[in-house]
Amino acid sequence: MPVSAAPEPTTDIVRIQNPVTGQTVGSVPRDTPVAVTDLLAQMSRERPGLRIEERSEVLHAAATALHQQRERFARLISDEAGTCAKEALREVQRASRNLTVAAEEALRTHGEALQIDASGRERIAITLHEPVGLVCAITPFNRPLNQVVVKVAPAIAAGAPVIVKPSERTPLSAIAFIELLHSMGLPPLAAAVTTGLPTDVGATLLESPLIDMVTFTGSADTGAALAKQIGLKKTLMELGGNDPLIVLEDADLERTADIAAAGAFSNAGQSCRGVKRIIVVEDVADRLARLIAERARKLKLGDIYDPRTDVGAMISAEAAERVLDRCDRAVAEGAELVCGGTREGPIMVPTVLDRVSAQSRLVTKETLGPVAPILRVRDIEHALQVANGTVYGLQAGVMTKDLERFMFLARHLRCGAVNLDEGPQFESPHIPFGGVKHSGLGREGIRWAIREMSTVKTVVLPSGAGALR
Ligand code: NAD
Repeated sequence: MPVSAAPEPTTDIVRIQNPVTGQTVGSVPRDTPVAVTDLLAQMSRERPGLRIEERSEVLHAAATALHQQRERFARLISDEAGTCAKEALREVQRASRNLTVAAEEALRTHGEALQIDASGRERIAITLHEPVGLVCAITPFNRPLNQVVVKVAPAIAAGAPVIVKPSERTPLSAIAFIELLHSMGLPPLAAAVTTGLPTDVGATLLESPLIDMVTFTGSADTGAALAKQIGLKKTLMELGGNDPLIVLEDADLERTADIAAAGAFSNAGQSCRGVKRIIVVEDVADRLARLIAERARKLKLGDIYDPRTDVGAMISAEAAERVLDRCDRAVAEGAELVCGGTREGPIMVPTVLDRVSAQSRLVTKETLGPVAPILRVRDIEHALQVANGTVYGLQAGVMTKDLERFMFLARHLRCGAVNLDEGPQFESPHIPFGGVKHSGLGREGIRWAIREMSTVKTVVLPSGAGALR
C-alpha cells in the first residue's frame, strides 16, 4: 500500500498518516502566518502570571494525569510515529517523570546574594530569575511527546508562556498533551500549539519580535538554517549526533553487547543519543560483533501495537530506504554485513555492520535507523581520534574497568557527556543534557532548561550602617 513520506496537506488541514499502514490517524489545522501572528499577539498581551506554587501544582497534576492516561498517549505515539507499543509506553512514563521533576524544580528556583565592595562603599547584589518571555518550542518527530514535555515543563516552571510547533508528521500527542495541561488548570495562553507546515508558519515564528526565545530540537542542518532566521533572540539548540560507544580490551563484552544493542536499536534507531558508532579495539572486535548480532537477531519485529514487539517502524519507508542505502554504500566501501540489511516498508531489520570505515557516510553523518556500525581501532588513542573525528559531539559511552583510561577519554572527548560502563543513551531528568560542535547550543535537563528559560536580573543596593543616607 502507498505510504507517503510526508503528511498530506489539503487547503486548511494536514492529514496525519500512520507510517506502517498509511491510514489517516488524525488531522490538524494547517495554520497560516496570520493565525500564528494573532496567537502570538494574544499570548504576549495576556501573560498568565501563575504563582510558583500554582505552576508546581499544575505540573504535578499533569504528571499524574499522564501516568493515568498512559495507554491513550502511547497509542497516539504509535499511531503517528510508528513507535512500537512497548517503547511508546516507556516514552509516556519518561514524560510523566519529567513533569514531576519540573514540578519539584519549580519550587527550587532561586537567585544569589553577593556582597560587593565598590571602592570602599559596601553594596549587596541580589540576582532574580525572571521568566525569559514568550518561548517558541520547535520539536522533532522522534519521541514526539517527550520532546514537547522537556521544553514545555521547564517553561511552565520558569513562568514563561510557550508556543509549541511540533513536527508536522507527529503533532497529535503534542496537541493532546497541551489539552491535558489546560484541563489541569494551566491558563490557555500559558501554553499553545501551532500546527501545519514549517514552510507556512516557520518564518512567522522565528522572525516574530514577540518571541523572546527559540528552543529547537531537530537535525543539525535544520538548526543551522533556522539560526540564520532567528537573529538576536535567546536560542537553545538540541541537534543530532553520531554518538560513540568506545570499547576497550578489558570491557565486559556481554554487558557491552547489551548496551550496544539497546542503544542502536531502541526506537528503531531514531534517537539523537543512540549508539551510532561502536568503536572497538581490534582484539575484542570479532567476539563483540558476534554478541551484538545475537541480540539483534532475537529482537521481535512486526505488529507495532503488539506489546511484545521490540522494534517498531521508522517514520517512513523512504527514511528506511535512505538508511539501507547508506548501509549498502558502507558495504561497497569494505564493511561486512553481519546481519539485517533489509526492510519491509518502514520497518527495518536491526542491522549490524563490521569493519565500517570511519570515513563512511553511514557514520560521518547522523544515521537515524536501527543500525549498529562497528569501527575497529588499534588502541585508545586511535579510538579517541575516531570518536572526535566528526562534526557532532552529543554524548559518549566508554566500556572499560580501568578508571585511569576512562578519565583520559572523559577529558579529551569533545561532547556534552561521557558515561562510564553505560552507553551514550544514558539519560536522567536530573542531569544536564546537550551537545557541543554541531550537536547543539545550551543545555536541557529540567533544572538547566529552567535556567535557560529565565533571565537573570541583578538588583544592587547599598548595605552597611547608614547605607541610604
Ligand atoms: P528536522 O530538523 O527535520 O525537524 C525538526 C523540527 O523543525 C520539526 O518540527 C520541523 O517541522 C521544524 N522545521 C523544519 N524547517 C523549519 C522552518 N523553516 N521553520 C520552522 N521550523 C522548521 O528533524 P526531525 O527529522 O523531525 O527529527 C530528527 C532530528 O532531531 C535528528 O537529527 C535527531 O538527532 C534530532 N533530535 C535531537 C535531540 C536532542 O535532544 N539533541 C532529540 C531528538 C531528536
